[in-house]
Amino acid sequence: MVVHGGRPGRAPGAPVGPPVELTSTYHQGGPVTYGREDNQTWRAFEEVVGALEGGEAVSFASGLAAVAAVLETLPVGAKVWIPHDVYHGTRRFLADREPRLQVADRMADAQLVWVETPSNPTMEVIDIAAVVASVAGAAPVVVDNTFATPLGQRPLDLGADVVVHSATKALSGHSDVVLGVAVSRDPQWVEALRRRRSLHGAVPGPFEAWLALRGVRTLAVRFERASASAAVLAARLAEHLAVERVRYPGWGTMLAFDVRGGAVPADAVCERLRVVVPGTSLGGVETLIERRNKWLGEERVPPGLLRLSVGIEDVEDLWQDLSAALTAVA
Ligand SMILES: *Cc1c(COP(=O)(O)O)cnc(C)c1O
Repeated sequence: MVVHGGRPGRAPGAPVGPPVELTSTYHQGGPVTYGREDNQTWRAFEEVVGALEGGEAVSFASGLAAVAAVLETLPVGAKVWIPHDVYHGTRRFLADREPRLQVADRMADAQLVWVETPSNPTMEVIDIAAVVASVAGAAPVVVDNTFATPLGQRPLDLGADVVVHSATKALSGHSDVVLGVAVSRDPQWVEALRRRRSLHGAVPGPFEAWLALRGVRTLAVRFERASASAAVLAARLAEHLAVERVRYPGWGTMLAFDVRGGAVPADAVCERLRVVVPGTSLGGVETLIERRNKWLGEERVPPGLLRLSVGIEDVEDLWQDLSAALTAVA
């Protein structure tokens, strides 16, 4: 499905891949009239992501636009429960909406429950099915599945109402596009998300959707390769003298490790790397590393923690690079 979804029909002479539909307006009398409502290239990407997550997908201009669209469905004064380790953009969005939206102290008080697992960047795991069971239908459960990808977990199968992604990350996979997507099985949610996309004007560019579609075709092979490398690196990092702690849930392409001695040696490790790229973001074909605590709003993260988004390079090249940099600062 990830390879064959969203393609035109198999008519002789038809293109195998969908074209980029670059138009702002449409001839009248059809289902679509204007480019802020719909686009065939979005649809092709949405078909693939919808199949991966097991629902209907709605694409957005960015991951944060998808997050905002979900949260903006709530009435004024609504309370949202978020885990303590949640994407800083989601936290900032809620802070910006105070008091129209409020962070709930207890899950039981919330009109919407937000889950992000594994968490960014401490890699804590939340049991989605257990959260769904404890909420018991009293509030919708939304899962930010950016870190795990639908190949790591399918939250809708576990009872979540909506899944959101920063498609900027693993889904598109090449660090060349900013895009988001939200997925649900509930037609009312899908309709609400489409309406918000159009009302907010948070629409993806057709070319961005095409790039993401091109990228998601290889998600399975990228995920398999990067996950295998992440397991190797997590095990070897845990043995390294310069590493105090490895944070790795046992699967997936993301991990974090705490460098002994804190911020100064951790920054020195990043400066010495020649293969691994110091940079924000994740999920690309290239391995990225970042000391998250240096960012405003990330003060809760241990100063020496380095987040590693494992790419598809040769794992021995990655290990040589990391171990040389760690040994030099140890
Ligand atoms: C990057 C990210 C987002 C925001 O997505 P953008 O595409 O950057 O707007 C949301 N959640 C998580 C977990 C992310 O990593």
